[in-house]
Amino acid sequence: MGTAKRFEGRSVLVTGAGKGIGRATVKLLAEEGAEVVALSRSQADLDALSSEFGCRTLAVDLADAGATRAAACEAQPVDLLVNCAGIAELAPFVDASVEAFDLTMAVNCRAPFILSQEYARARIAVGQGGAIVNVSSISSFIGFADHAAYCASKGALDGLTRVMANELGRHGIRVNGVHPVVTLTPMAVKAWSDPAKSGPMLSRIPLQRFVEPEEVAAVIAFLLSDEAAMVNGIDMPVDGGFLIN
Ligand code: NAD
Repeated sequence: MGTAKRFEGRSVLVTGAGKGIGRATVKLLAEEGAEVVALSRSQADLDALSSEFGCRTLAVDLADAGATRAAACEAQPVDLLVNCAGIAELAPFVDASVEAFDLTMAVNCRAPFILSQEYARARIAVGQGGAIVNVSSISSFIGFADHAAYCASKGALDGLTRVMANELGRHGIRVNGVHPVVTLTPMAVKAWSDPAKSGPMLSRIPLQRFVEPEEVAAVIAFLLSDEAAMVNGIDMPVDGGFLIN
């Protein structure tokens, strides 16, 4: 069975759509027939998405809870939701600031909470089920140095995924998490181009390479699709086997 056009007639809200994994997800879903509502911070990124894939766009700063809720309401109705936007503010634990911690929690966990809440309310009202994918990270399982706020935010997001999977399941809404290892977005290519840095990380990955954004998008699309109709509440690593080491 081919996988083309799995999303014909379906609409999907994707956050963090402007770059990296989110952009690759928008591209794949649009190619497979989805009508995409792209949410990001940068209007320039959104304009590019709109002209390339014909997306509806929403420019919003997900660190702002009120603006996030307004955008979440404006985006409805959509059939599916991908919470992909995320930030990482790195600092040694003893030096990490409360401001950076709060910002990371706001974007990586509170925004998915708000977006999912408005999505779920709308889906429950129409009674047609749905699916949410939260883009977490292997960082929710591992205590990476200098990643205190990031690891905490992704662990919190996983908790949210499980509670939502539990409460929303009875409404036919599935909620799953995707957990990539280092993914070669433009920023990561820069950050990991030094072999002294990438070597130890790569040595823990049995498949001996980092992930391409399209490979994460493919797993997101699977979890959104009807092929995953009985998959609910999981943490799906996309890590070449990193977590077994
Ligand atoms: P990226 O930096 O390439 O893109 C992030 C997107 O999120 C951008 O479009 C940006 O505009 C948007 N965004 C960030 N902060 C925002 C805000 N305050 N308001 C609105 N939009 C905002 O990121 P990426 O590497 O593609 O990461 C996407 C997701 O995947 C994140 O949740 C990240 O934590 C997760 N992840 C990434 C990696 C990796 O190595 N790249 C690994 C594991 C998990």
